[in-house]
Amino acid sequence: MPSPTPVPPRDRADTPWRSEGAPPTPPPRRRMPGGWRGLILAAAVVFVIANVVLSFFNEGDEPTISYTEFSKQVAAGNVSTIYAKGDAIQGELKSGRPKPDGGKGDYKTFETQRPAFAEDDLWANLTRQNVTVTASPVVVQRSFLANLLLSLAPMLLLVLLWVVIARRMGGAMGGAVGGLGRKAPPKPVELDSGARRTTFEDVAGIDEVEGELNDVVDFLEHPQEYRRMGARMPGGVLLSGPPGTGKTLLARAVAGEAGVPFFSASASEFIEMIVGVGASRVRELFAEARKVAPAIIFIDEIDTIGRARGGAAGMGGHDEREQTLNQILTEMDGFSGSEGVVVLAATNRADVLDPALTRPGRFDRMVVVPPPDRAGREAILRIHTRDIPLAEGVDLAQVARTTPGMTGAELANLANEAALLAVKRRRSEVTASDLSDALEKVQLGAERPLVMPEEERRRTAYHEGGHALLGMLQPGADPVRKITIVPRGRALGVTLSTPDADRYAYTEEYLRGRIIGALGGMAAEHLVYNVVTTGAENDLEQVTTIVRGMVGRWGMSERVGRLTAVPSDGQSPYGLSAAPATLDAVDHEMRRIVDECYEEACRLLRENRPRLDALARALLAEETLDEAAAYAAAGITRLTKDHGTA
Ligand code: ADP
Ligand code: MG
Ligand code: ZN
Repeated sequence: MPSPTPVPPRDRADTPWRSEGAPPTPPPRRRMPGGWRGLILAAAVVFVIANVVLSFFNEGDEPTISYTEFSKQVAAGNVSTIYAKGDAIQGELKSGRPKPDGGKGDYKTFETQRPAFAEDDLWANLTRQNVTVTASPVVVQRSFLANLLLSLAPMLLLVLLWVVIARRMGGAMGGAVGGLGRKAPPKPVELDSGARRTTFEDVAGIDEVEGELNDVVDFLEHPQEYRRMGARMPGGVLLSGPPGTGKTLLARAVAGEAGVPFFSASASEFIEMIVGVGASRVRELFAEARKVAPAIIFIDEIDTIGRARGGAAGMGGHDEREQTLNQILTEMDGFSGSEGVVVLAATNRADVLDPALTRPGRFDRMVVVPPPDRAGREAILRIHTRDIPLAEGVDLAQVARTTPGMTGAELANLANEAALLAVKRRRSEVTASDLSDALEKVQLGAERPLVMPEEERRRTAYHEGGHALLGMLQPGADPVRKITIVPRGRALGVTLSTPDADRYAYTEEYLRGRIIGALGGMAAEHLVYNVVTTGAENDLEQVTTIVRGMVGRWGMSERVGRLTAVPSDGQSPYGLSAAPATLDAVDHEMRRIVDECYEEACRLLRENRPRLDALARALLAEETLDEAAAYAAAGITRLTKDHGTA
C-alpha cells in the first residue's frame, strides 16, 4: 500500500493546488482592502497631514503683529515690501525687530490685519516710504480644472493611502505583489531555508528517467541560454508508470533540483459539479506559475480528465471535464516557450489518454517510470533507511533480492513497517528479523486474530496446500516462498510465490502455470471434500485477468488471432472494442483455457495426492511454512539455483 506522498498542504481552501518553493500567495482579495481598520488608519493619516499642511500655509513663521506696530514701522520707513489681500497684509521689514510676544530673536517678515475703520492714509504713507506694494484679488478665480483637482485632492489622498495601508497590512509577506500597478519582477525565489526540498538525491532506481528529466532541470536553471539559442523546450512532460513508482516524487525532485517553485494539483481536484469552475482554476494556476516563472506545474492523475473524448465517458460532469482539459491545452498552447513554465503530468494509464494531450507542443515527451529492478530496489531501500538505525546483520541487498516487483512506495512502506516493529519490540536498532516480519506483513497482509473451527482450518490447509503444491510442480513457475493458514488481511490463508529474479516478459507456459496454481486451491477442495467454497473468489479474479490478457491482448489463442480484442482496462471508451463475433470467440477461448488448466490442476493433484496430504498435515501442525520447510514437507527438491532462472 503506497504511503501518502508528503506533499505540502494546500495554501488556500479555494485553490485546488499546492505550491512549494514559491513566494507565499497573497491572501484572497477582500471586498474592502485592508478592511475598516485600514480605512480608519488612512483617514487618521490624511487628517494629520492636512493639519500639518494647513498650519504650514497659515502660520508660516511670520509673527502676527498689531496694526499699530505696523503703522509705526511704516512711518519709521522700516518696511520694504507688502503683499495685500483684502485687509490682510503680509510684509517684510528692512531690519529685524524684536518679536512682539517676547520670543527669542528678531522677526523680519510679519503679517497683520488692517481694521476696517482705520482712517489712516496708508497708501500715501506707503508711497512716501517707497514700499513695494503687491495686491492680489480677494476672490481668486481658479480654473475649473484646478478647482476640480483641489476638491478631489483629499479624496485622492485618502484612497491612495488606504490602498497603501491595505497592501502593508494584508500582504505583509506578500512579496509577489509589487507596488500599485507595477508588475512584480520575476525575482529569484528564496527557498525556505528550514525545509529541505526533494532532489534527485531522494530518488533511486530510475536513473534513465532522471537522465531524461535532467534536460528540464537544465532548462529551468538556465532559461536565458535556451532563449538565446531560440530553442524551444517541450511544454509538457508526461510521466507514466504504475502507482507508487515515484512519479510525484520525481516531479518534486525536478523542481527541487532546479530550485524553482513547484505547483501541484491532482486533476480530479479541479473538477467540481459546477461547469466552468475547473477551467477557471486552471487559468488561475497557470497565471500564478507565470508570475514566478521559471516554475513547474505538476498535474497528477491527468487521466481522470484526459481520457480520450467521445464515446460513453460516464455520467455527469462530462462537460466540466472537457472544459478543464481544454483549458489546460489552451494554456499550454499559449506558451511561447520562453516563459520557463514546464508542465509535468503523471498518469498510470497512459494508454487511455486523449491523443490531443500528446500532440507536439503539449505533452510531447513521454517518460515511462518503471518499477525498480534489483539494484534499484536496494538503492531505494538505502534511501528509506537513511534515518533508521540498522543492526549489524541487516543485508539490504538480500531484501532487495526477495522483493521483485515491489515499487518504491511499497519499499518505503516496508522500511517504515520494520522501524515500527522495532519500536514495538523495544529495540534500539532494526534487525533482520524485523525486516523479514515487516516484509511478511506487507506481502501477506496483517495477521488477523480469528479462531477458526477445526474443519475450516483443515479445508484451508488443503486449499493452500493445493496452490503451493501446483506451484512447486510447474516447471518454470515462481518458487513458493511461504505458506500460511493464519488468517491475514481478508484471506483465510496465503501462499506466496515470488520469482527469483525480475521478470519482464512472460511465456505462455508460465502464464498457464500461474492459472493452474491459482486454481489449485479450488481443485484441492474439490478433490478432497468435493465442495466449492467462497474462498476461491480472489483466485478466480486472478485467473480471469490472466486469461483475458492471454486471449485478448497477447495473441495466445489461435482462434482469436494476433490482435488486441479487449482494451487493457476491460472497458473501452469507444464502446465495443471488437466485433461481437470476435468477443464471442474471446469468451469461448478464455473458457477453453481455464477449463484445460483446471483439468490439469485436478490431474496433478490426484497424481500427487500423498504430497498434498503431507503438505496439509504440515500446515495444520505448523500453521506457517517457509520455503525450505514447504518443499521438504511436500518431498520436492527445488530445481533451480538460488537465482538466475531463465
Ligand atoms: P506515484 O506518484 O508514482 O504513485 P509517488 O511518487 O507518490 O508514486 O511515491 C510514493 C512514495 O514512494 C514516495 O514519496 C517515496 O517515498 C517512495 N518512492 C517511490 N519511488 C521511489 C524511488 N524511485 N526512490 C525513492 N523513493 C521512492
Ligand atoms: Mg502520485
Ligand atoms: Zn486460494
